[in-house]
Amino acid sequence: MRGTLALAASPLALGYSALTSSSTARAADAPLDVAAVAPGIYVHQGRHGLFSPENAGDISNCGFIVGRDAVAVIDTGGSAMIGMGLKAAIRQITDRPIRHVINTHMHPDHVFGNAAFDDGNTAFVAHHKMARGLGARAERYQAINAKLLGENAFSGTRIVMPQVPVTGSQTIELGERTIVLEAHKTAHTDNDLTVRDAVTGTVFMGDLLFSGHIPTIDGSIRGWLALVARLREEKADRVVPGHGPPAMPWPDAIAPLTRYLTAVSAGVAAAIKSGKTLSEAAETVGLDEKDAWVLFEEYHRRNVSAAFAELEWE
Ligand SMILES: [Zn+2]
Repeated sequence: MRGTLALAASPLALGYSALTSSSTARAADAPLDVAAVAPGIYVHQGRHGLFSPENAGDISNCGFIVGRDAVAVIDTGGSAMIGMGLKAAIRQITDRPIRHVINTHMHPDHVFGNAAFDDGNTAFVAHHKMARGLGARAERYQAINAKLLGENAFSGTRIVMPQVPVTGSQTIELGERTIVLEAHKTAHTDNDLTVRDAVTGTVFMGDLLFSGHIPTIDGSIRGWLALVARLREEKADRVVPGHGPPAMPWPDAIAPLTRYLTAVSAGVAAAIKSGKTLSEAAETVGLDEKDAWVLFEEYHRRNVSAAFAELEWE
């Protein structure tokens, strides 16, 4: 269903659509579908999956907030192509300048669309630790994603490093609309950032919130659980997960993730206490969660390994 409006508007594009509907790629400039989740706030829902030529890296959520004077983008998808689709979706709704692109953390499915917005007029904003994390992984991320996406879908993709580092809490004024950025301690990664729209009480959680898609641990399971416990106490009218529906109720939305992380943390701690090895732990810990998550087979063992490495020194 992506890009339906734009395709319908162009007879040439209809031919393109017919030719490609059963095979591969999206039209490079086709706007992404976006949902209006609150006044002036739009979210595109990525599909649950791994990077592939077919999805062009459209596997996480991204969105934007429209103020009186400017637009702020929050995450840009997993390729320049998806970033261009997001930009096209913005231009269907408003011609106000895009002054900020905010990345919720360093993972490729959230930052690889940045190149589509890198026109010299847009500032790239992220947690102060993101530049270091992304810089250290840049070569590997680019090599892996070029291979997984293939030439067509990866075309134009390059890493755009953040220019505006956020420490603690910082605001951006969009005109009759203030958004509040908060840089968190290590949880999903060591550079997680949330974005709150004060007008509507909407919070972009990035990958601190997964729904449907199994959570992935690239930071600290203990830190993540501690952060969730704190964030639960904060009010929000709705939240936008990094993976899952465009908007969800808070704090109900975080319950399954909390349950999963608690099961892995407690299971791994018990395995370590009883002298089990990592591979023994991986055979048993958290398997009750199997049917609750998409991509469980792809990520669960890695999560147990990450938790084991973290908890064995405690
Ligand atoms: Zn992530």
